[in-house]
Amino acid sequence: MTGFLEPSNRGLNGDANLDLLLEQVNYSYSNSPFFKNLRRSFNGRKAAIDSLELFKQLPTVSKDDLNRANESFVVKKGGRIVEYVTTSGSLGTPLSIGLTRNDLERLAYNEKMALGISGLKPDHSVLITTTLDKRFMAGMAYYLGAVSIGATVIRNGIGSLHFLLENLRNYQPEVLIGVPSLLVKLIDFARENEIDLNQLPLSKAICIGEPLRTSDLKPNNLANRINRHWDIELFSTYASSEMMTSFAECDQHHGGHLIPELIWIELLDEEGNEVLPGYPGELTITPLGVEGTPLVRFRTGDIVRMHTNKCSCGRDTLRLGPVEGRKSQQIKLKGTTLFPTQIENILHQSEFVDDFIIEISKSEMDTDVVRIYMPNSLNTSETKTIAELLEAGLRVSPVIEKVPKSVLHEMVFPKGGRKPIRIKDRRYE
Ligand SMILES: [Zn+2]
Repeated sequence: MTGFLEPSNRGLNGDANLDLLLEQVNYSYSNSPFFKNLRRSFNGRKAAIDSLELFKQLPTVSKDDLNRANESFVVKKGGRIVEYVTTSGSLGTPLSIGLTRNDLERLAYNEKMALGISGLKPDHSVLITTTLDKRFMAGMAYYLGAVSIGATVIRNGIGSLHFLLENLRNYQPEVLIGVPSLLVKLIDFARENEIDLNQLPLSKAICIGEPLRTSDLKPNNLANRINRHWDIELFSTYASSEMMTSFAECDQHHGGHLIPELIWIELLDEEGNEVLPGYPGELTITPLGVEGTPLVRFRTGDIVRMHTNKCSCGRDTLRLGPVEGRKSQQIKLKGTTLFPTQIENILHQSEFVDDFIIEISKSEMDTDVVRIYMPNSLNTSETKTIAELLEAGLRVSPVIEKVPKSVLHEMVFPKGGRKPIRIKDRRYE
């Protein structure tokens, strides 16, 4: 494995990173059973893949491939896998990702860099609300990163809001890591208990799981909703277990910065052509320096835009905007193409919408149907306001269905899950 390059401002696709890329590709195509097989089936090439042109001719790999042949992606030579983590798969079964010791070190380095971009300093205390167990990667990555920065870590994990508030008061952390909807819940809880969150030293929230920016990198409704009540600086981060790499916002909040020594990215259209900066495309990744479960040209299904102009923070690494949609979740509603994330953003605009689920299904005519489940505690005028917001924002009207609050809560957080499930796509069930 290659040692990490010194952190730098080098942009993507520089010569130094090309070496890392080709090394990673040849490692994967020589050691991973899946990629070895792929090499045989695509042209049987024996020679090394030694140029960017050859790299671009390699087939892309989808999440479905990873689902179908999960085991064969893992390089098990010499029993070097020290840990398995899982992530949700496209077919409803969890995907396993095996990590070597070096992968864990790589993960710590990744998060050290990412948290550093978002301003975590050695003299900060950081409270982590993501879980460190249950085979999740994120919580552990944050823990390793924060520890390698030298910050003080408070492992809150998932717990009651009472426990969270107790930790915030007792340990006075300056930074919190968690999902934005937790902040919304904390605001409501604090208000009910007459606690002023603005009195706490907590000044930064590093947020995962839900976007906080619009496609033109302005705060979205969820971010505005939090900041209306709480003067806390929100940092968006984007990562996945398959990527093993984070894109973190700096204090300019103009997209998540790429860590060029850790990942090679391409944004591709439906036909596999590269899209221009500023235009949406499917994020396709080749994580660098990964040993246990390497991926080459893996299509994430996430639709994002890249920004290549120099950031006002001084870094010239490229940045990714928010995930504007999942390719598989694109909806055609009465001739209009939209993503559930657009609906989510509109719903977050409204103060009285707390829990909701967007369900996409197929009608008997095989057209898409969107149904939004909301709590039955909403009164008629509130429901009407929401319907008007949706109509204005989408130019089509999804069906609104009201269910008891407890039922809805169970749908959003099934079996006490950590991340709210806001989108349920039942079209392919
Ligand atoms: Zn920046």
